[in-house]
Amino acid sequence: MMSPPAHATALHVLPDEAPIDRDAAMVAVADLLAALGFDPDEGDLVETPRRVADAFIEMMTPEPFEMTTFANEDAYDEPVVVRGIPFVSLCRHHLLTFRGTATVGYVPGERLVGLSKLARVVAHHARGLQVQEALTMQIARTLERALEPQGVGVVIEAEHLCMSARGVRTEGALTTTTAFRGVLATDTALQGRFIGARPV
Ligand SMILES: [Zn+2]
Repeated sequence: MMSPPAHATALHVLPDEAPIDRDAAMVAVADLLAALGFDPDEGDLVETPRRVADAFIEMMTPEPFEMTTFANEDAYDEPVVVRGIPFVSLCRHHLLTFRGTATVGYVPGERLVGLSKLARVVAHHARGLQVQEALTMQIARTLERALEPQGVGVVIEAEHLCMSARGVRTEGALTTTTAFRGVLATDTALQGRFIGARPV
């Protein structure tokens, strides 16, 4: 690992303050099981409230990270795009997962960012209770804030369990959302670099 150059700067991306009461969550899961006609004290259900509470806590708690940026000394001004970043998130309407891939990139201004940080931004915002549209915008906003780039593009394709496992049962249907900012908001040729070559 190369250490960041001396002129690197970092934006601390922190989750919102959200107190977690694990014991109360376990009781609530046991109550839910009972309300749905299951005995939470029976056999292999005994540990389920703890497992469910811990799984939700993990999936709803964003990990903080440092968005280290460094000077764009060679004045690179073409899009930098990372495709196929996998993510899993929880839908805030059903508490069911939606999962898919994100294509994230930017047209640099004065700053560049390590490529792994583009994946970290996705992972950070995917944790929590999300809707895909908001997730897309939040990723774009964080990149704008950290990089002050000429443009930002985010394309997300995801399958929602609340659509595929219940309700209309559209297994395999993908929902696409996009956020294009700056020069990418109006330049459809540049947008094509994000949308056209995404993984199929
Ligand atoms: Zn849903």
